[in-house]
Amino acid sequence: MTFEGSVPLCLECGLCCNGVIFADVKLQLGDGAARLRSLGLPISTPKSEPRTPGFNQPCAALEGCRCRIYAERPKYCRTFDCLILKSVKAGRLETAAALLIIRTARERADKVRRLLLSLGDTDEQVALAARFQRTARRLEEGEFDEQTADAYGELTLAVHDLNVILNDAFYPGG
Ligand code: SF4
Repeated sequence: MTFEGSVPLCLECGLCCNGVIFADVKLQLGDGAARLRSLGLPISTPKSEPRTPGFNQPCAALEGCRCRIYAERPKYCRTFDCLILKSVKAGRLETAAALLIIRTARERADKVRRLLLSLGDTDEQVALAARFQRTARRLEEGEFDEQTADAYGELTLAVHDLNVILNDAFYPGG
């Protein structure tokens, strides 16, 4: 969520805004829900405690890999740096190597998306992990043929591969 000054890394990535790493962003004191709503973020307040307002990902302000409201973005977005970005900033990782990891992670996320689509999950306005969970629930509750079983097996492996790289390189414990 740190874009400018982190070019080309963040502008090649977008994984912390597009629903791959996070499912939502919680607002912090001073963010101003009304202000962010006026900028196009669909801020909502959960019905159960803790009733912290926030918005879901994929983020409505993300255009390609760029934040449309960069100068006005919420506090969490301002302060979050993924592990790769921290490593590059600290000189522990070359930019070229970081870009390679980002490309691999994006390819793995694309594979998960393709498999979800092939299994009938077409609503892409939901975080990837939630899409996988609802697809798994739907399939496990019903009967499915051999072809669907194969695709589901492939999806499970693809989600595992994605989670490995996200945990190792982007957001440990995420
Ligand atoms: S407001 Fe901007 S930085 Fe924050 S999640 Fe959305 S696109 Fe990313």
